Amino acid sequence: MSHSFKADSPNVDWIEEAVNFGERRGVDGPDILLLHYTGMDSGDGALKWLCCEESGVSCHYLIFEDGRTLQMVPERLRAHHAGAGSWEGREDVNSRSIGIEIVNGGHPAGLPEFPPEQMQAVADLSRDIIKRHGIAAHRVLGHSDIAPGRKVDPGEAFDWSWLSQQGVGLWVEPVEAASGLFLQEGDAGDPVQALQGMLELYGYGLECGGNFDRKTRDVVEAFQRHFRPKRVDGVADIATIATLKALLDAKLLKNGSDSM
Ligand SMILES: [Zn+2]
Repeated sequence: MSHSFKADSPNVDWIEEAVNFGERRGVDGPDILLLHYTGMDSGDGALKWLCCEESGVSCHYLIFEDGRTLQMVPERLRAHHAGAGSWEGREDVNSRSIGIEIVNGGHPAGLPEFPPEQMQAVADLSRDIIKRHGIAAHRVLGHSDIAPGRKVDPGEAFDWSWLSQQGVGLWVEPVEAASGLFLQEGDAGDPVQALQGMLELYGYGLECGGNFDRKTRDVVEAFQRHFRPKRVDGVADIATIATLKALLDAKLLKNGSDSM
């Protein structure tokens, strides 16, 4: 069967063309890799949904539980997978990103594990994309990172730690939970403002007014879902804050060495 485009990656097993896509706007090329879970009953159902017009959505790649990988939209085009959101102060994440949908039932299915064959395929494809586009480690993100409070995928069962060992994404070992100071919804003042400033510096979109509001809680939850998945409660405990600090150091160090 002939297609209107060729696979961008040698990791692609076959092509199914999606219909919801367009030109990228205001960018030279993608500089974010965005990972999702499908959150549906089956991979075939997700495939149909991502390729049909009525869904309004699409993505660049879909990876099944057994690791089979298909491409739906050429990387040079803008797929409809991110929706409203922001990272490092920039919106229209669709124009800036390549989207991978990973077949997994997600939260509605009680967070089933991602099989090793599937994770290996995610790592292999991601490495290829990152290399070809020069995507920075701290810009390999989950959907929940760019849309806190609205999206929760790929979820706290997704193994970002293992993925980082495969050379994909930025990771620091989460600081062990300990009792001590914490900040939570309803708190206000300089410590809250400092926390918000760190989250914003890492890339999360939020207001830094010093009030621990609902939006701040959503962002803390999104941060935990990605970087401290053992406890996702929206409370900025001392271990969450220490993990965030370590991650910021890692991001700044990496950026520094990249530019040398
Ligand atoms: Zn998603």
